[in-house]
Amino acid sequence: MFHVTRERRIRHSQCGEGVGLPHGVSGSLWAGHLQLGRTTAQCVGGTWKDGVVDDRARAGRFTLDTKLSGILGGRSAQALHRAFGYETAGDLLAHYPRRYAMRGELTALETLPLDESVTIIAEVLEVRERSMRARRGTILEVKISDGTGTLLLTFFNQAWRAAELSPGVRGIFAGRVSVYQGARQLAHPDYQLFTDADASAARGEPTAEMKRWAETPIPIYPSTASIASWQIQKMVELVLDGLVEVADPLPPAGRVARSLVSHRAALDSIHRPETQADPALARRTLRFTEAFVLQTALLQRRAALREQSTVARHPQAGGYLDRFDAALPFQLTADQQRVATEIATDLASDIPMSRLVQGEVGSGKTVVALRAMLAVADSGGQSVLLAPTEVLAAQHLRSIARMLGPNLAVSLLPTLITGQLPAAERKRALLRAAAGQTHLIVGTHALLSDRVMFADLGLIVVDEQHRFGVEQREALRVKGQSPPHVLVLTATPIPRTVAMTVFGDLDISTIAELPADRATITSQVVPLAIRPAWRDRIWHRLAEEVQQGRQAFVVCPAIDQKTGEPGELTLGDSAEGVAASDPSASSSAREAAARAAPEGTARSEVARKNGTRTHTAPESTATMATVSAMMAELAEHPALSSVRIAALHGRLSADEKDRVMRAFAAGDIDVLVATTVIEVGVDVPNASVMVVLDADRFGVSQLHQLRGRVGRGEVPGLCLLVTTAGPGSVGLERVEAVAATLDGFELARVDLELRREGDVLGAAQSGGRSSLRLLRVAHHGDIIADARELAQQIVEVDPQLREHPTLADAVRRRLNDEASEFLGKG
Ligand code: ADP
Ligand code: MG
Repeated sequence: MFHVTRERRIRHSQCGEGVGLPHGVSGSLWAGHLQLGRTTAQCVGGTWKDGVVDDRARAGRFTLDTKLSGILGGRSAQALHRAFGYETAGDLLAHYPRRYAMRGELTALETLPLDESVTIIAEVLEVRERSMRARRGTILEVKISDGTGTLLLTFFNQAWRAAELSPGVRGIFAGRVSVYQGARQLAHPDYQLFTDADASAARGEPTAEMKRWAETPIPIYPSTASIASWQIQKMVELVLDGLVEVADPLPPAGRVARSLVSHRAALDSIHRPETQADPALARRTLRFTEAFVLQTALLQRRAALREQSTVARHPQAGGYLDRFDAALPFQLTADQQRVATEIATDLASDIPMSRLVQGEVGSGKTVVALRAMLAVADSGGQSVLLAPTEVLAAQHLRSIARMLGPNLAVSLLPTLITGQLPAAERKRALLRAAAGQTHLIVGTHALLSDRVMFADLGLIVVDEQHRFGVEQREALRVKGQSPPHVLVLTATPIPRTVAMTVFGDLDISTIAELPADRATITSQVVPLAIRPAWRDRIWHRLAEEVQQGRQAFVVCPAIDQKTGEPGELTLGDSAEGVAASDPSASSSAREAAARAAPEGTARSEVARKNGTRTHTAPESTATMATVSAMMAELAEHPALSSVRIAALHGRLSADEKDRVMRAFAAGDIDVLVATTVIEVGVDVPNASVMVVLDADRFGVSQLHQLRGRVGRGEVPGLCLLVTTAGPGSVGLERVEAVAATLDGFELARVDLELRREGDVLGAAQSGGRSSLRLLRVAHHGDIIADARELAQQIVEVDPQLREHPTLADAVRRRLNDEASEFLGKG
């Protein structure tokens, strides 16, 4: 009848301070069903309040949209808002227990971990008051037992507690375990005592009622230092008690067909289950509902896009596109041709295109996109190409100009617009765009600013869309007289279920084959933990390549000891411990949070903004390979004495970055020591070697992207994945997986597997407050597909959801929460 739970929470202020617990505030910790709606107190934000619970609670007047401040009072609502960003009843009810503790599951008091915060159900054995030796005042010592051991509670100068902590009283105690004179104790624990009725029931003969009580799971909530699990539990119960009948977003037939319970029943039994089986069914219901609401939102969005009409774009015989094709020095691969046809068909229609092209690095997506831009130019329209960084934008401009050749370039006038352009140049560029002199505009998000106007924007190409959200696409969309066609390019292969979820509003084209002439890339793991001597051989190998006139990249996870490159550093194993205990901080969530961080934003900042609670201190970069350390090391290395080395990372100014990239592209730099700035799109065919240091600190797809930077020309590429990760670690496993195949789709699959918690979507959607709670894209592909089918049936017939007001509400709530952030980002 006792249990111990380890909780992350430590202390909240003293509930019961001064007033003690009013009788009858036992709550579901004891009885399984809290009676708070009818009792007179609540422990909230650390103080017990005389909670004359609002009449509305009893009348059952809350809806999911009711503000928490109207239910819990301002203070508690504020505390919840600060801790989790919650505002409404629905927000709080979507705060699902992380796990459940069973009263039956005994953990001996004797084995209490030192220095950890624990929650214990126990009985008071003995109470003793004594005066302190060195100081004035008294100590109240309370010995409690859970039947397996004893523990001392100590209170200083709070003798009055003896009145309530009398022998035989049971309750739940929480605090941090310390040792005093060889004995374990909790100093000033928080506690909550069970009522007499509860206690006597539990002490008497085992009744059916008691058995039920013993089998009632206790929800353990994700909590913070300021709000404990049990406080959340009470607030949740209060909300549940006062909640009106909640309508079901799922159509009844769909629910029955899947043997799911009603939404209200699911909420009830996930928060206050009566049996151990309850949470599972509740989860299944809520998870399916999550998938279903999300798919409905995506399909609705897609339907809305398809209702718009725009200008169809046709290439002209003998026009730009024909001239370009005639001069193309190679044949398009079969995949490129197929995708080109899909795009051409979209462009020729008056429904705006929303298409994602996924294809390996180097599979020739840019060529395909450029052809689309030329078709638009043929019809008199303009295209913009959005790149995630200034470096890439500048590089795109160069390679587009090169591919076009001088004649076409002169007529189309490809133009760069970025935030870093000198004022005069920028003004000229803006004029050109507004006047329609240029048909091809390349740039970064600076293109989204109000001052950028177009004469006739026909097509938006977003390269490496992972860093562009839907709102950015939207900002550009409204710049056309009619909605422009949108083409999204990504080199990150996307498993089907992810595609369905993250890009559920886009059509998808895939370029799977690489151009035949592509040189191969050899990948090799350099496991320094096993073979430390290989380190030196890396640099000799690098020197050899340079002597043959080739170039190389050396990639580090951080810029210097103090700064992991914000927005670039990817955490590897270190995040996994967190993921295991807290789904909202899965490693992928952190990876994505880190990746999505605009340069210059601290990682912790991002984590905070996203509501990702990282319970570990930001990882020190002390043991990581850094750009600055490698610059120093390589400069000293005898084998590299005549090699020209430069650094590239996100802290350089855009000008400097651009200068370095140009110099590298021109062959004036042999070795580039860089962070993952070079991850996407950098195209230097003469680069043949890539050394990735601390490779285990990068994600699978990131490594794959990085590797794609070499072996782009005729020169075969070599990728050395250097790691100190030990045998058997996930880090090493990940690196070996990357070395084992060049197939991005296979790697995407492996990646999902290795992520375990694997909340790919939650990641992209920033682990934030209302991103998917129970749905894991990596594991619930079938559910997602099933939900999509059901959503499809409904949206097809009733795109406005007029016949499905509850579903419409759920979608609206989702969209409110996640805003544009959520949909279409990935
Ligand atoms: P991606 O954008 O998919 O990484 P790019 O379009 O930049 O790929 O193409 C990579 C390189 O391959 C470029 O130099 C491009 O000119 C070249 N390329 C593209 N398609 C082909 C093809 N079908 N045959 C030969 N080379 C190609
Ligand atoms: Mg590209």
